Order: sequence, then C-alpha cells, then structure tokens
Amino acid sequence: MMNNVTNEFRGRPEPEATAAPTRPRHGRPIAMVVLSCAVFLVPSLAALPRKPVVLPGAAVSATPRAAASTASAPAAAGAAASAPVATTTDLGQWCARLAPAVPGVDASGCRASGLQPGAGRSVHGVPLWANDVLPAAGAPKFKVLLLGGIHGDELASVSLVFDWIARSKGVKASAMPHPSKTARPTIADVAWRFVPLLNPDGLLHSPSTRVNAHGVDLNRNFPTADWARDAQPYWIRHTKKDPRRFPGPQALSEPESRWLLAQIDQFHPDLIVSVHAPYGLLDFDGPPPAPRRLGSLQLDPVGVYPGSLGNYGGLVKNVPVMTLELKNARAVPPRELAAMWNDLQRWLNEQMTNPGTQASAQRSPVPGTKAVNAGRRVD
Ligand SMILES: [Zn+2]
Repeated sequence: MMNNVTNEFRGRPEPEATAAPTRPRHGRPIAMVVLSCAVFLVPSLAALPRKPVVLPGAAVSATPRAAASTASAPAAAGAAASAPVATTTDLGQWCARLAPAVPGVDASGCRASGLQPGAGRSVHGVPLWANDVLPAAGAPKFKVLLLGGIHGDELASVSLVFDWIARSKGVKASAMPHPSKTARPTIADVAWRFVPLLNPDGLLHSPSTRVNAHGVDLNRNFPTADWARDAQPYWIRHTKKDPRRFPGPQALSEPESRWLLAQIDQFHPDLIVSVHAPYGLLDFDGPPPAPRRLGSLQLDPVGVYPGSLGNYGGLVKNVPVMTLELKNARAVPPRELAAMWNDLQRWLNEQMTNPGTQASAQRSPVPGTKAVNAGRRVD
C-alpha cells in the first residue's frame, strides 16, 4: 500500500506503442490456432474487420466509419479548419474538440486539467490523455487510478473525471506541510492518475458508441483468468451476441486495453476507480472493506464478468476496483459530484490511517469467490 511513484505519466515511453509497428496482430502460431478456434465457434467473428495497428499520431484507418469520423478524410477536409483533428497532441486543440461533445466539460476547464498526450493511442490514433496529480511534498501514501470513458457513450463518466481533477488540485493547493514525519497521512498524500477518456473513438463517433472502433467492449477485453474459457461463451449465451458487449477476438486485442494494463503495471495503484453509467450503484471488487455509499450511490455488489476491469483488477492483480455506476449517462449534478468526492476522501482517509478496519463497511467477497454475473445487466 506504500508504493512509490517511480515515474510520472508525462514523457514516459509506452511499450505498446513502441512495439506496435513491428508486431503482427496474430503472428504466433498458437495465436493463430486460438483465433481459428474462436472464428469456428463464433461465426460472426469471421466478419470482423482485421485492421492494421494504427501508429501513434496516424490519422489513417481501414474502415468507412473511421474515414467518416476522421477530419483527414477528403469528405471532411472542409471542416478541418474549424474542427480540430482528434489525433492532435495539443491540449488546447483537444479540448476544443472534446468540450462540445461532453456536457459538463468546458474548454477552459479542460485546458486547466494539465492532461498530457503520452504515447498511448486509440485504434484511430487519438491520444489516451492522462495526468498525474502528486502530493506537494513527500512520497505518496496511497495511489488512485481514476478512469472514465471506458464506454464511449457514458459521457457523464468523462465529465466526472475532469471535475475531480480540479478538486484534487484544490486539495493539493490547500495542503499544509506536515509538522513532523510522524503526522498522520491525509488526503493530500494521495497520488492520482487521471484518465478521463479511455475510449475516445467511441465517444467521438456520431452517435457515441459503447464499444471502440473495432467494435470491442473494452470492459470485456482484459486478461482475466476466465477469459479464454468464458468470454466468448458468455457473450454468445448470456448476451445473445449483443454487439455492444463483444469481448474481442482475444483478451487484450485492443490498443486501449493494452495501454490501460501498462498504466496499472507502471503506476501500481492501491485503488482503481472506474466510472460508468447509468445503473445507479456502487460496486467493489477486491479485499478491503468497501464504502457503503458514495454520494447517492449505494454499495450493491453485482459480481464480475469475463474480461471486465473489476474482475481483472480485483481478482487477478489484487488491486481493489471501485466501480461507480452513475445514474445518468449524460451528466452528473454538481452537488452529486461534490458528495461523491467527499465520501471518497473520507474512505481514502480511513484506508490510509486504519487500513482494512472500517467498522461501518460491508466486507466485499473474498477474491475468487464471486460468481460470474448472470442476472442484471450492468457494465
Ligand atoms: Zn460502462
């Protein structure tokens, strides 16, 4: 729980992006066998487009949809002057592109976020922007990775992250220096890594889509222990091949999920907060006692899915994953944003000062005991 931040997000080479140009998508024989089996079992997989990995910064793509949503396409050339290209690495241009698409995000607040483009890219080459807000002094006592926009049509999750970036900077600015080394850690000792939008291609598509540009649900694409056995059968039997919940041809088939995995391995968060909508509940996967509520969201453990981030973080990496299911996918009332933030601060304070002994909390299931959710539809 006392990991040190060894390097910040900005400027760090990103393994996936540097490896992409030379690595074939399914180059190894065993991968071919697995893919062939998957195509056999899932006929519709054969119809999925096989696109080349897009190089960082590249605005080219192989699908009509990509051409329609990329300003570099001839048909969109006339709009390029007024609508910044989404692949820009200039924060001002990115904010001018993003703000009109997300209620609650204004361009000036977006520019003040301090987001960095890093090296991670979406399928269409859009930067996966992120920013670290670190303690003003000393090593962090707790590290939180906050993730929005894993589903591109859940706009409220993106605006929440921008709102909380501003709040975390307020905490940092008002933090008082420790009177002594033995002072209790406070919320000012938390290091944050903010990722407001993991699925920019889905959000910027018109209309916005849950899935990424390959048609993959990123929240079913993580390499959970049950992925190879259960992900495809679950999609076929329980979702009736719902295209909004396609887990991908294989775990980590998508550049966005590979990049997020690298963030987890590099940042070593003590907590991952993943924001979704619109089911209006709080879920928690992992060992420590979960908060009973965050704002108006009540704790309601719903189980895990093959390939979901809660499954991967909570059960594979042993990093607790707090999933916020906001009540409305388009916007969050400002009062609710503040209430959730304040409740999270209280919970973090308890974890830092008295880990694992929160008397009022409900204990979440022991890792490995959760069953695959087969009932309610949640993210
Ligand atoms: Zn979602």
